Amino acid sequence: MSKTIAISNQKGGVGKTTTSVNLGACLATLGKKVLLVDIDPQGNTTSGIGVNKADVKYCIYDVLIDDVHPNDATVVTAIDGLSIIPATIQLAGAEIELVSSISREMKLKNALKKVKSQYDYILIDCPPSLGILTVNSLTASDSLIIPIQCEYYALEGLSQLLNTVRLVQKHLNTSLQIEGVLLTMLDARTNLGIQVIEEVKKYFQQKVYQTIIPRNVRLSEAPSHGQAIITYDPRSKGAEVYLELAKEVIMYEQAAR
Ligand code: ADP
Ligand code: MG
Repeated sequence: MSKTIAISNQKGGVGKTTTSVNLGACLATLGKKVLLVDIDPQGNTTSGIGVNKADVKYCIYDVLIDDVHPNDATVVTAIDGLSIIPATIQLAGAEIELVSSISREMKLKNALKKVKSQYDYILIDCPPSLGILTVNSLTASDSLIIPIQCEYYALEGLSQLLNTVRLVQKHLNTSLQIEGVLLTMLDARTNLGIQVIEEVKKYFQQKVYQTIIPRNVRLSEAPSHGQAIITYDPRSKGAEVYLELAKEVIMYEQAAR
């Protein structure tokens, strides 16, 4: 069984990329075969996992626009079992180019179909918008993880995301589900975080992961070394919590079966 999960929230800076890289790396560490798909033109997942964009031959742009086979665009990472289809700045043009193409919302789904059986998990790191790249990601996915930062206005903008999810469910992907809601960047020293947790749990109830990601400086340092936290600092709190999250993701899948 293979599962494709979009990591999505149109707000920037909520922990989508950090979660994609580190959940992916931890799932691989637990023995799963994982493909990261970077579909954000900023390409932070790509550089964050140690892929030099200058060395990239084919990126996700070529897969979406020029029908390059996903296997030909896949790069193996330093972590056993973890591969990535990278993004480069070339992808910035894709939004416009896709507008005029046939079945433009299905491009990613049709591409990933060719390689899905090779992986246990495909994680798609979405851009901070609800444009055609995010719609492609939701259409290609079995489910989505929504990272929410433990900050003021945490729930702001979520109704637009959920509205997009409903539209995709209605017109493009009837089986799309919410995999889980992940609370990120909790500052345990403030009461605010606790309030936000309560608010988010009231709204999403049992969809909220038990694992809550605290602020951890090692998590923010790791990308500049091109490493996931599990190799950058395996003893850090950040490594511990993302490993916990990976176990939770696996556990829910087993329970569902
Ligand atoms: P997004 O992909 O949603 O824009 P990022 O994952 O890039 O968000 O995170 C935004 C910034 O916050 C990055 O600089 C990242 O390193 C940092 N960051 C993310 N999660 C944490 C965390 N738990 N602790 C500390 N810094 C974090
Ligand atoms: Mg990002």
